[in-house]
Amino acid sequence: MNLWRSKFYVVLFLVLLLNCNAQKKKGSNDALQLVNQNWFNGKALLNRVKILSSNEYKGRRTGTEGAKKAKTFIINQLMALNVSPLTPNYTQPFSFESRNNSYEGENVLSVIKGTKFPEKYIVISAHYDHEGIKNDEIYNGADDNASGTSALIAFAEYFKKHPPKHSVILAAIDAEELGLKGSIFFVDHPIIPITSIKLNLNMDMIGRSDASELYVVGTNHYKQLHPAIREKNLGLQIITGQHDGTGSGSNWTNSSDHASFHSKGIPFLYFGVEDHKDYHKPTDDFEAIQPVFYHNAVYNIISIFRTLDKMML
Ligand SMILES: [Zn+2]
Repeated sequence: MNLWRSKFYVVLFLVLLLNCNAQKKKGSNDALQLVNQNWFNGKALLNRVKILSSNEYKGRRTGTEGAKKAKTFIINQLMALNVSPLTPNYTQPFSFESRNNSYEGENVLSVIKGTKFPEKYIVISAHYDHEGIKNDEIYNGADDNASGTSALIAFAEYFKKHPPKHSVILAAIDAEELGLKGSIFFVDHPIIPITSIKLNLNMDMIGRSDASELYVVGTNHYKQLHPAIREKNLGLQIITGQHDGTGSGSNWTNSSDHASFHSKGIPFLYFGVEDHKDYHKPTDDFEAIQPVFYHNAVYNIISIFRTLDKMML
């Protein structure tokens, strides 16, 4: 090899190396690009998280004033978008015992009639309760799960312009943190025949990821759902097969409200991020939400919904 050629290869190698680094950077959260869309209002999406995770809501623990305030906030949002209640006043009250205490919980349920398969239902869920106050510290639960709760309202916005083919129940679930109590009550007292529920999409912690990764759980249990997720990676990385009980990650099959649907044999997809340093800590605050990742996560989940809604469920 002559000197010129070796220099050329050295330069080529450096160019490739730099390019490789640039591509790596692209994958990091700072360089994420906001997906352009007109399905929902991105500013309002963030603002709802800010409100629900503010100190005024006192961590939204089931049965407390803070949880009632959150319930009222969600109902007002649904009413402003003209979304119909599934139950009187949008609520499904329930009571239960947990850790030697009795609690009163309330799910918030609304419905959008399907244009093509009105008798078949997709339940889109997110729990709105969180840990409340412990040792005088407010656990605001911005990511867990004001992020999923606000995304429910984004879905409601989306449906105004794009009515679903299947009927959709938007379910803001209470008492998840106390043992999935709200979703267990919902599937045990389903209001509509349980056999008409064809799918559950559950969102719990979708607001931040340093690695820009959104996990989707459920495709290992319900393989027919996998095609809906392929090639949906706009503005973040969607990862399947890691937390289904098969991959290297911990098994999230029973980690949130989708478990209650799964227990009835209802196919589910769960959307969530890897546990972060503020998970179940008083520092799970609005300031740590990553606006671009969060926005893109909601966009991708709606996009996956669109594909599933076109399928015969
Ligand atoms: Zn949660």
